[in-house]
Amino acid sequence: MSENMTGENKRQRIMSGMRPTGKLHLGHYFGVLKNWVKLQDEYECYFSIADWHALTTKYNQTQDMKQNVLDVLLDWLCVGIDPNKAVVYLQSDVAQTAQLHIYLSMITPQNWVERDPTLKDLAKIMKDKNENMSDLSYGLFGYPVLMSADILSFNADFVPVGIDQVAHVELTRDIARRFNNIYGEYFIEPKPKLTQTPLLKGLDGNKMGKSFNNDIKISDDEKTTENKVKMALTDKNRLRRDDKGNPDNCGVVYDYWKLFGSQNEIDEICDGCKNATIGCAQCKMKLAKKINESLAPQRQKRLELQNDLGYVYDVLKKGSKQAQQKSQEVLDGAVKMIKMYK
Ligand code: SF4
Repeated sequence: MSENMTGENKRQRIMSGMRPTGKLHLGHYFGVLKNWVKLQDEYECYFSIADWHALTTKYNQTQDMKQNVLDVLLDWLCVGIDPNKAVVYLQSDVAQTAQLHIYLSMITPQNWVERDPTLKDLAKIMKDKNENMSDLSYGLFGYPVLMSADILSFNADFVPVGIDQVAHVELTRDIARRFNNIYGEYFIEPKPKLTQTPLLKGLDGNKMGKSFNNDIKISDDEKTTENKVKMALTDKNRLRRDDKGNPDNCGVVYDYWKLFGSQNEIDEICDGCKNATIGCAQCKMKLAKKINESLAPQRQKRLELQNDLGYVYDVLKKGSKQAQQKSQEVLDGAVKMIKMYK
């Protein structure tokens, strides 16, 4: 809690968002959503389904957007994002952010945007693939400024991020500071709130992602989960059932055990693997069962929500309205500071 000028306690504000890429996987769950569920109890939270950001790269695949937004929303709600505690909204419903984005674009030097590490990586990937650099649109180039507008639209105190996204918050701080220097003190310089979560690899040992087909979705059914876990990477040196294994060399299965198992279960798997009293197939079946048990309440809740889409869309509508109100307040204040017609 912090105190405002009238001495009242005010909850500090958090803004974060996610692109609607479709059904979310365990990397989203452990890396982001579990943290958001905790944060909503302590902070005033604004969580955005960032459909404009999705457009920066998927501008020609808009036919999937509606379903993807719904899938993200269902996943958020089923894991415990609570619309009575946090504001859940659709980015494109909040035109105030686009307006603020224009003002911020005017004061952001081009080379600040060019140093964005994600853009640099993307440009390199395109170059390596001999792709046409003109596919890197004006909108995509400017997405770090749009992200800053998302955050500053709510004058957020903190932005929960992984270490790889700290640069975005730094840019937002730079833009806020520049605005304050030019027009007068107005924006809070938001701080990154680092999420300390282990990076969950995909089942093949690579980065987890929908497009790599190596993820377990929150919404997968039990059989699908079981089939996916069967394919997971294990200790490559353990070729036969009676070979002794080493859990530390087990590609990913043991890492998943560390997330889903109790300490006793983890110790048991470790001993069983080292002494070859458990085979990889059996270890994976047990793990799949464990994952299914652990996710059963969320999956059940998701099914219930799917049967009550009126409620689900109402959550988004109500949240977008709240987000519009708050961001309008912030925008009005910013425009006043700019003093264009005074
Ligand atoms: S028994 Fe389990 S922990 Fe050991 S290598 Fe096989 S899958 Fe990995």
